Amino acid sequence: MSTRMMIPLLFLAALASESPLWATEPTWKAGLSRVVITPQKPVWLSGYAGKRVPTGKLHDLWLKVLALEDAEGHRAVLITSDLIGFSQSAYDTLCAELKKRHRLDRSQVMLTFSHTHSGPVLRDSLLDYYPLDQEARQLIEEYSRTLEATLVKAVGQALERLAPAQLLVGEGLCSFAVNRRNNKEAEIPGLLARGEKLRGPVDHRVPLLVVRDRGGKMLAIVFGYACHNTTLSGLQWCGDYAGYAQLALEKKYPGVQAMFWTGCGADQNPLPRRQVALCEKYGHQLAQGVAEGLTKPLERLKPRVQTAHALVALKFEKLVTRTTLEQAARTEGLRGRWAKRLLARREAGDPWATRSTYDYPIQVWKLGEKHLWIALAGEVVVDYAHRFRSEYGTHVWVTSYVNDLVCYIPSRRIWDEGGYEGNGVYEYGLPAERWAPDIEERIAETVAGLVKRVGGK
Ligand SMILES: [Zn+2]
Repeated sequence: MSTRMMIPLLFLAALASESPLWATEPTWKAGLSRVVITPQKPVWLSGYAGKRVPTGKLHDLWLKVLALEDAEGHRAVLITSDLIGFSQSAYDTLCAELKKRHRLDRSQVMLTFSHTHSGPVLRDSLLDYYPLDQEARQLIEEYSRTLEATLVKAVGQALERLAPAQLLVGEGLCSFAVNRRNNKEAEIPGLLARGEKLRGPVDHRVPLLVVRDRGGKMLAIVFGYACHNTTLSGLQWCGDYAGYAQLALEKKYPGVQAMFWTGCGADQNPLPRRQVALCEKYGHQLAQGVAEGLTKPLERLKPRVQTAHALVALKFEKLVTRTTLEQAARTEGLRGRWAKRLLARREAGDPWATRSTYDYPIQVWKLGEKHLWIALAGEVVVDYAHRFRSEYGTHVWVTSYVNDLVCYIPSRRIWDEGGYEGNGVYEYGLPAERWAPDIEERIAETVAGLVKRVGGK
């Protein structure tokens, strides 16, 4: 092309960006909001059995919202949070409120948890886990109700701020997550120092969703990582590695809202751990993985979002018997508390205490023409991410720790192997010891149906 021709073309291109044609081109709309949710009162810290009363904070806990609207006006709202996870009852209450106040159905709201173990205990969640007294219970209830109201308000703010935007996807890498079933925690520093390969399946990808305004200015980075957010077990509020990663990104890209979600990392740990310096290091490593991903070519998404949601009845292997409960009720600790509570609920004729299934929420979004976002409730192991990527392609993200904390969700492999992630259903207060062996198939069938509903495979 001659220079003579280039000038008028460039001139036309510059004009086009201001023309009414551009203004009517179908576009995404995006709106953001954020709010500090660090408890002001000493609500116990969550995630490890036992009493942990907070003494201060390493940094604030956040709740962040990204509202999206496609060219046809369909809305989808992503919420990320420095929280362990909501109970089924808190999730149900929230869905009802969001429907009433913002006309959003369950398919349109993806409520994700970083699963930090340096955040507050939430109502009805893992309650037998902690030796709670009356005062602790009251603080949890009070904090949870305020949090739920705050969340509904923050969603409203994000929706009010919807404005034309671009959406792009990409991927980074980060390698600190270790398969905790296949490597002994105490041996990890030695193995790493000798440069030996760690064992077991992992998922080191860092999916990226970037929101820009119409002019191309970056507004938000949404990123995921498949690893338990459990570097720390101290007495200070902290978003753990995910908190540090978000802070590092917001410092590197001023004005940008960084939002973290957890992938299928229930059997993955940040190892070695238990030091603030390590926690910060992992956060910076993850932020670096995100930053590197952003330097690669990103794919721009067409302004279309389709959303689907289902509750699938997952079966327990068998209902716990009264004899087992009566024996367990004579013991101290978590199991004793669980047994006593279930016996009391049975006594009161509460059908919850003798149910044989659990209504497990699954959600699928399709962004643009092919990008699938599968969101699974509970603590989901890494096999699910690999399975769904091999079934639906590399343009698939699998988010775990969404909507309802439920309990561990083992794959068939892990169910067969047993061990912590394959058992322990009762630790979450449920009236059983294990899921039925068909758990993975039930989930995969439901995902397949939802993928079809959003026009996937
Ligand atoms: Zn967990």
